[in-house]
Amino acid sequence: MLIDMRSDTVTRPTAAMRKDMADAEVGDDVLDGDPTTRRLESTVAERLGKDAALFFPSGTMANQAAVWLLSAPGTEVLLDPLSHIVHSEMGGVAALCGAQILPVVCAGAVMNASDLLQAMRSPDDASAPEASLVCIENTHAWAGGQVVSLTRMRALRDVASAAHLPVHLDGARLWNAAAATGTSVAEFAACADTVMVSFSKGLGAPVGSALAGSRDAMRRVVRIRRRFGGAMRQSGVLAAAALHGLLHHIDRLPDDHAAARELFGVLDAAGLEGVSIVAPDTNIVMIDLPTSCAAAVVMRAAELGVAVSEWTPSRVRAVTHLDAPIQRVREAAPLLARAIADVLPG
Ligand SMILES: *Cc1c(COP(=O)(O)O)cnc(C)c1O
Repeated sequence: MLIDMRSDTVTRPTAAMRKDMADAEVGDDVLDGDPTTRRLESTVAERLGKDAALFFPSGTMANQAAVWLLSAPGTEVLLDPLSHIVHSEMGGVAALCGAQILPVVCAGAVMNASDLLQAMRSPDDASAPEASLVCIENTHAWAGGQVVSLTRMRALRDVASAAHLPVHLDGARLWNAAAATGTSVAEFAACADTVMVSFSKGLGAPVGSALAGSRDAMRRVVRIRRRFGGAMRQSGVLAAAALHGLLHHIDRLPDDHAAARELFGVLDAAGLEGVSIVAPDTNIVMIDLPTSCAAAVVMRAAELGVAVSEWTPSRVRAVTHLDAPIQRVREAAPLLARAIADVLPG
C-alpha cells in the first residue's frame, strides 16, 4: 500500500515518541498519581485555559463522561444528528446516561445559533422533556473537518447560556481548528464548560484523549471515569506519547491541511462527472459520488495502493496525517482520481 488515508488514527508512534514512552517516569495513577499523566493533564488544562484536565483512554469515554456529568436521566441533550456522539458512540447518551437526544437540524454543514434556537422547546410546554446540555463538535468530522468559527462558537454559547444550559465541546480535532484559523484552543474552549481533545488523531499518539473543565467538574469526573472503567495505573507510558504529540506534532498540522488542499485540488481539477468534493478547512477530504459506489471506489483505490474509507454508500473519505506526508499524497491523488473514474458509469 502506497498510502493509508482512511483516518488520522492510523498513525504509528514515531521513534522519538516511543523513546519518550520508554523513558516516562510512572506511578500508580489511581493510588497516588502518575507523574507523567499529571504533567500531561496540567499541560492540557493550561493550553485549554481550564482549571483541570483528566486523561482518558478514548475520546468516546471522555465525551460520555461529560454527558454523564452535565445531563440527567430523562432530560434532553441537544446534538447535531451528524455528530460523533450521535453516530459513533453506540447510543451512550441513552444507554449510559439515560438521556435522549434532541436533534438540532442544521441548515448548513455545521450548527449555528439560529439552528440551536429553532431546536429548543418552549419552557412553558408542560409535557416536553427538559433540556440539560448542548454539545458542539469542532472540527466537525462529518462535515469534512470543517471548523466552527470562534464567532459561531460564541453565538452558540450565548444561546445555550440564555437557556441556562451548559456546553460540552467535542474537540477531538480542536488542534486542527486552531492550526487552520489562528484562533487558540483556549479561545474555542472558553465557549464550553467541558472540552474533550484527542491525542490519537492528528497528534499521532497511539491512545488517549483528555477532558478539561472547572476544578469542581473534574473532581466529579474522576469518579465518573472510575465508574466507566477509565481509571488507569501506570498511564504515564501513554501520557508520554500524548505529551510528545502536544510538544512536537502541533506545529506540523498545517502540513496535513496543505496536503488535504492539494488532494482536493487534484480531484477537483480531474473534472469527474457528477462528483463533488468538499473543500477542506483542515485534514479531511470528503468525496461525494453521483451513485452509491463508494465501496467500489474504495476497492479500486486499494488496488492502486491508496487506502481511503467508505463514509456512506455515496461518500468516500480521505484523511491526511503524520504518516501520509504531502509527497505521498501528491503521488496518491491522481491514483484516487483514476479509481473514481474507473468506477463511475460511462
Ligand atoms: C475520533 C473522534 C472522537 C473520539 O474517538 P475515540 O476513537 O473514542 O478516541 C470523538 N469525536 C470526534 C469528532 C472524533 O472524530
